[in-house]
Amino acid sequence: MVLLCGALAADASRALHTAARRTDLRTGPSKEHNRVTVLPSGIRLWATGWQNGWYKVELSRLLNAWVHESDVTALDRSLPKPGPVDITDISCRGADAGTVASVYMGSNRPWRVRQEVSPPALKLDIFGARLKRYGVRQLPSDQCTWAAVPRQVADDWVEITFSLLHHQQRGWQVGFRDNQMQLLIRSGYDGTSMAGKFIIVDPGHGGPDSGAVGPTGLKEKAANLAIAIRLGELLTSAGARVRLLRTSDRSVGAAWVGKRGELEARLSASENQGADLFLSIHNNAVGGGNAATAFGTETYYWTPMSILPARILQNHLCAAQGTKNRFVSWRPFYVLRQTDVPRVLVECAYVSNPYEEARLRDPQFHERSARALFDGIGEYFRIAAAR
Ligand SMILES: [Zn+2]
Repeated sequence: MVLLCGALAADASRALHTAARRTDLRTGPSKEHNRVTVLPSGIRLWATGWQNGWYKVELSRLLNAWVHESDVTALDRSLPKPGPVDITDISCRGADAGTVASVYMGSNRPWRVRQEVSPPALKLDIFGARLKRYGVRQLPSDQCTWAAVPRQVADDWVEITFSLLHHQQRGWQVGFRDNQMQLLIRSGYDGTSMAGKFIIVDPGHGGPDSGAVGPTGLKEKAANLAIAIRLGELLTSAGARVRLLRTSDRSVGAAWVGKRGELEARLSASENQGADLFLSIHNNAVGGGNAATAFGTETYYWTPMSILPARILQNHLCAAQGTKNRFVSWRPFYVLRQTDVPRVLVECAYVSNPYEEARLRDPQFHERSARALFDGIGEYFRIAAAR
């Protein structure tokens, strides 16, 4: 029998650890496959096969994933497969930013967090782990979780469900240090007022990257910036703290290092800042379609907690601009894939459409768009705090 390149030989088994800052584990051996989880560097994995530059890794006996070889370091083949690590204690305590759930285990293992919004919950899967002690200690300082319940899904897979008190979630972060996996669950929104809120606004493109270009030459980056600057003024005058990732026609990274590097710079400038909302402002263009017939407004989100602000901002934009309400959609855009805060990307109108391009040149249209976003953000905070 001929073993093709797709075959997974037994001698491919070996230990790996993640080397990239963000390592995607996927459902199959290509970038077209969905992500199972994203891990930081230094997390130990166990490969059971290799195919065309991708390692097949065993998260649990019940779940495999694939990781690209450029994202990992292969460890010595003599290292044996590690057995399940014991989880000896789980606790939830209050901290400034929210609740910190600490899972005590002797060494790190891969994990996955799934967010649910109705009812609100975070589910933390820890692979290659088993519960040595059942139950979670919820300390009185914990203000975020209603209940935290661990479950042994398989003999090498523990799931902990954190049922949350606040209906509208504000983000989470997870990491491993000092023999603890720590999940920070950010506390819900307090107060309906715009005053004191922190909003990060990302005017799309800039500098060498024009974004879309309209039929008479309008550059998307200019319209994005005009709307963002006006939105920043409105938010600031209402008492909010605003960070515009750019305030002129330039890249956000110190130097232009390509579109991927620029997106990374925007992520670095916005992640884990304790913001209340991240908003990326863009305008749209048709790829292969008809520029005359494609027009209107679209809004995108990735994390489930970002659905509510996405829907509210889309409705406000269409009502105030008088644009066609095309859709709200899930999309794995790079700047939306962080889980630290609700993140939304709006496409106010189509630069590629002759009528909407003309509108996007008009300062009055920028004003309407900015006011719509301002009103939408205000409504979002009011609804989020009441839930
Ligand atoms: Zn764009």
